[in-house]
Amino acid sequence: MASRVIPVKPFDLVIFGGTGDLALRKIIPSLYRRFLAGQMPPQARVIGAARRDLDTEAYRRMALSALEEFVAEEKRDPEKIAAFIEMLSYIRLDARGETGWNELAEALREGVIRVFYFSVGPGLFADLARRLVKHRLNDADSRVVVEKPFGHDLESARALNAVLAKCFDEHHIYRIDHYLGKETVQNLMVVRFANTLFEPLWNAQYVDHIQITVAETVGVAGRGEYYDRAGAMRDMVQNHMMQLLCLIAMEPPSLFEADAVRDEKLKVIRALDPVPPENIVRGQYARKGDIPSYREDVGNPESTTESFIAMEVHVSNWRWSGTPFYLRTGKRLKARVSEIAVIFKEPPHSIFGRRLPNHAGNMLVIRLQPNEGMVLNVTIKEPGPGGMRLMEVPLDMSFAEALGENGADIPDAYERLIMDVIRGNQTLFMRGDEVEAAWAWADPIIAGWEERGDEPLPYEPFGSGPEDALMLMHRSGRRWREISDEL
Ligand code: NAP
Repeated sequence: MASRVIPVKPFDLVIFGGTGDLALRKIIPSLYRRFLAGQMPPQARVIGAARRDLDTEAYRRMALSALEEFVAEEKRDPEKIAAFIEMLSYIRLDARGETGWNELAEALREGVIRVFYFSVGPGLFADLARRLVKHRLNDADSRVVVEKPFGHDLESARALNAVLAKCFDEHHIYRIDHYLGKETVQNLMVVRFANTLFEPLWNAQYVDHIQITVAETVGVAGRGEYYDRAGAMRDMVQNHMMQLLCLIAMEPPSLFEADAVRDEKLKVIRALDPVPPENIVRGQYARKGDIPSYREDVGNPESTTESFIAMEVHVSNWRWSGTPFYLRTGKRLKARVSEIAVIFKEPPHSIFGRRLPNHAGNMLVIRLQPNEGMVLNVTIKEPGPGGMRLMEVPLDMSFAEALGENGADIPDAYERLIMDVIRGNQTLFMRGDEVEAAWAWADPIIAGWEERGDEPLPYEPFGSGPEDALMLMHRSGRRWREISDEL
């Protein structure tokens, strides 16, 4: 089954922050992989821009070592790499000064798509937007890609949206949430809306509850300064987990088209209830042996920022009234896993008498990482004579196995998203009002912690987070799925 690749139109892609971690680790390797797949036309050009005093040759060497480090060996074809590297150039440019802008104006070609990728700290987004306009570099066919974090709260997100709106039309702005570029996340929409099997059951009448887990084993060392100002709520819940919740909970859009999908997601965010303190558990990882604690990792002995959060959330609308959504994310947990589990209700009456011990009922697990795939738990008869004993078996679909060569070759989220930007498809990017609505929901929760001087609960590294997170579910007779990288 050969995968179908349709080349995109020629483009000039400017990576502001072209020497940074994201550019070298993700953007350039993703572009190379699309080049290798035949999707990037030979006329495409990539311009790295940053303050560092480099020339194009030095930048190409930098990109080459990034490819050696971040592209799998079997994908490193020396001829292809050489051809790809030829497409790169470098301009020394300051987002906050005049250096480099005239050179950039000269380098950009007429008649090809222009993409301006803001791969710099968020403090520079507004500077870049204003200078692009001042130098008249954006045209009717330009796209502007804005990295996360998009604001720190509602006020800052609004201010950033206002600057962008002054400089560009909304249909030129691509706010990245790389979770939306993951294969399984898009599959979530296909599973829901291209099958008759699930959608009739996808509501409070049949779904007992939904769990969304994003667990990591790593701590925050290396990102401590940023993370300690953000915490799990800003870093994960307000953006990535909110997007997953929206895709799970939204009504069917009339079309798989950017605004139709984003309108439905926005309705979900607006239907979220405020979350009372008793429905939230915050945690912070403690020291274990040689593994430093959160406070040691961020170098702030009095930090009250959470590295773990679990919460019960309610979507107040006709479809979901009475079905809780449980969100859980944290650092230094047992395994690295991102998944969504939809737990269906028990049948209304069991003709087989007693329920099974530990019967989990029907459950659909959608796994984002690792090993992207889906599992549907069904109840069957335990084989053999001797009465009617029931057991649960998983109907298991690992994409890598089921899709053979194509499944093993699922493109990285950034590959898909960058190609979507060039194609002008905004479906997998957040609209300004969506981001603001998510902050409008998150802000009062964070403000409540600050007002109450809330202290996160310490938890032991490489476990499941604080005990109280288990209680959040136990109190209603439910339980979390085990944090495990096994499906
Ligand atoms: P980084 O490694 O610190 O890189 C920042 C880049 O910006 C460098 O190329 C730097 O080069 C350039 N820069 C700084 N000041 C500049 C100025 N005044 N004018 C022009 N260029 C300037 O940061 P990063 O990790 O790549 O992150 C970039 C953005 O992506 C951030 O918004 C971050 O939140 C977001 N992001 C990153 C990741 C990741 O995995 N790294 C993941 C998700 C989102 P010079 O110093 O040479 O100017």
